[in-house]
Amino acid sequence: MKGAPLAERIRAEVADDVRELGEVGLATLQVGEDEASTVYLRLKHQAAAEVEIVSVDRKLPHAITENELLGLVADLNADEAIDGILVQLPLPEHIDEARVIAAVEPVKDVDGFHPFNAGQLYLGRPAHVPATPLGVMALLAEYRVQIDGSRAVVVGRSDIVGKPVAHLLLQANATVTICHSHTDDLERHTLDADVLVVAAGVPEVVTADMVKGGSAVVDVGINRVAGGLVGDVDPGAAERAAFLTPVPGGVGPMTIAMLLRNTVTAARYRRGLLAFPGIGR
Ligand code: NAD
Repeated sequence: MKGAPLAERIRAEVADDVRELGEVGLATLQVGEDEASTVYLRLKHQAAAEVEIVSVDRKLPHAITENELLGLVADLNADEAIDGILVQLPLPEHIDEARVIAAVEPVKDVDGFHPFNAGQLYLGRPAHVPATPLGVMALLAEYRVQIDGSRAVVVGRSDIVGKPVAHLLLQANATVTICHSHTDDLERHTLDADVLVVAAGVPEVVTADMVKGGSAVVDVGINRVAGGLVGDVDPGAAERAAFLTPVPGGVGPMTIAMLLRNTVTAARYRRGLLAFPGIGR
């Protein structure tokens, strides 16, 4: 399941939407100089520029205080030209990540990390949903993988990938099992999976013999090793699975495309063209 062709189509759709909406604005906040974060942000801003989303890249010194950062978030919340706000994680130790995420106006929270948006997803009334899980579901839909009634196993329970993707699979009527670092006998679960989504951040934690024949496997992992980039699934699993996403070129391009789409959705919510699911909006 290649991500790039679908991601390109979605980006073209987003470009049309931006033209229709007029100006759409995205702001990112980065604290400190984490190298991987800088690379991810550069890709996000390049992608935004290509679809003519106006993006603002605020790079802040490591020494910024939590209150100063909260002040900047408040400014962006109040800025009419900004539709989406993205706080690049991780934040330095002296800043309470949860507090900063909770300070972003939910309608502008294009990462879908705010407790309001996480809660809406839990309740089955999704508002803004994190981009990577949306990308996983879009890939499965593109390749017409049967989800309704299937056994889906998610390896990983992070707030960014594992938990939200498990909720989306549940809403699509799969029977969902969530595995994590305390799961005993991982293979017993993965071998049962018609749909297997792996987001553990452990190089090739799922080996070929752990995959059910004829299944669909989505490898979210991106791990830097001596030989380059590897996923969480042994590429040899392609021999048994009906579908497998490559790393790189699978989920990665989808994440950025979905972030752009979320930004356009935020613009629609803010202009009253779409109702923001939840209370009082
Ligand atoms: P995380 O470290 O926050 O969470 C990892 C999860 O995996 C945890 O819930 C942990 O319990 C579980 N886990 C760890 N070791 C395990 C093991 N041996 N067996 C079973 N479960 C285990 O990571 P994350 O943010 O969810 O990211 C996961 C991976 O996905 C990373 O490699 C990350 O780089 C990648 N990622 C890719 C994209 C993308 O766009 N492709 C986006 C986000 C994350």
